[in-house]
Amino acid sequence: MWWYSDKVSTCVVLFVFAKDHMAAEKKFSAEVRDDNPYSRLMALQRMGVVDDYESIRFKSVAIIGVGGVGSVVAEMLTRCGIGKLLLFDYDKVELANMNRLFFRPEQQGMSKVEAAKQTLEGINPDTQIIPCTYNITTTDVWDTFSADLCMGGIDGRTPIDLLLCCVDNFQARLTVNLACLTYNIPWMESGVAENAVSGHIQLLLPGTSPCYECCPPLVVATGLPEAKRVGVCAASLPTTMGIIAGFLSQNTLKYLLNFGTVSEYVGYDAMNDHFPMISIKANPECRNDTCRSRQAEYAEKVAECGEAAHPLYAQRKAKADRDVKDRLAAQQKAAASAAEWGIVIETQGKDSLAVGGSNGTAEQQQSTSASNNAGGFEYAYSSKQDNDGVANATESDFVSTSEATSVSDLAARLKALK
Ligand SMILES: [Zn+2]
Repeated sequence: MWWYSDKVSTCVVLFVFAKDHMAAEKKFSAEVRDDNPYSRLMALQRMGVVDDYESIRFKSVAIIGVGGVGSVVAEMLTRCGIGKLLLFDYDKVELANMNRLFFRPEQQGMSKVEAAKQTLEGINPDTQIIPCTYNITTTDVWDTFSADLCMGGIDGRTPIDLLLCCVDNFQARLTVNLACLTYNIPWMESGVAENAVSGHIQLLLPGTSPCYECCPPLVVATGLPEAKRVGVCAASLPTTMGIIAGFLSQNTLKYLLNFGTVSEYVGYDAMNDHFPMISIKANPECRNDTCRSRQAEYAEKVAECGEAAHPLYAQRKAKADRDVKDRLAAQQKAAASAAEWGIVIETQGKDSLAVGGSNGTAEQQQSTSASNNAGGFEYAYSSKQDNDGVANATESDFVSTSEATSVSDLAARLKALK
């Protein structure tokens, strides 16, 4: 196991629990250790990106479809130390899959979930891998599927934290949509186009954001059978799938660990490297009854507790708090930089402005300040040049600020002038 590499040796059974406990703490400690696989992940916490990285140990995620996208997402989350993964797929590994990432030729013929379990447990034995080898679209497994989602949490009694849909057909997406609406499970959908040069990810929060049927693809909306084109072999590129898997995994980490902005929809056009991001509202006239019921529930919650009703409230608040902290740190850094370069920071009064003009002296011209009555900083730049120095400042030497100028930008510009 990963943590056994720390050489906490013991052969006394009574010490095993203590050893595991010590080792687990050591793995998720802030200490930088080359033999600790979590060191670089915990650095996110030390650097203020994530407040509580270790909480990932208690998260459980279901991945539906362990193909070109799902398998890569599973590997990324496993390497990130997620607590539990439930893998759903009934397909087998084929040589035709070798143009994609993750599976190896010697795994040909194995079920995808068993092959994935083998590989993932080899990468990180701390992550619990649950293989679910059945077709979720068949009605006779609905109860099994429901139980796996509702009791698939880290403790085996509560629902999973998030579902990731990485399938290649609409029927499976509609089944996932129904299950997530029924059991109020947040999920993210993903897809890669048949020509392999575009894809997308989308966040679906039951009742809050649109469900899969609120704004369905044309094939789903018209109810036409999803017939694959005869004689057409869908293309696939490991690059496009890896990019979509990366976006999906990143959005998952942000959602689970409350950092950054959790994207509602990100598209990817590989031909032009275009990443459209859009926001879609739930459709009050959605054809799915359960979706409309969830929307009504959410509306009641909003009426009761305002913006705190939103499932992403914790993420958004954490981001806002972190932004304030970062801004304060940037201001302190700029102040320290200003002191280093002989910059005097004033805090009040536009009257103190000494912006160089045509009639100003050299000293005056080399001293410029600007104020910001909206709580910003004022800077006065004083040259450190001696009497023999070139004191003929030009317009380009002047530094001024406006309300739109950030402190860090200003500090950088001042350094460049120096
Ligand atoms: Zn809907």
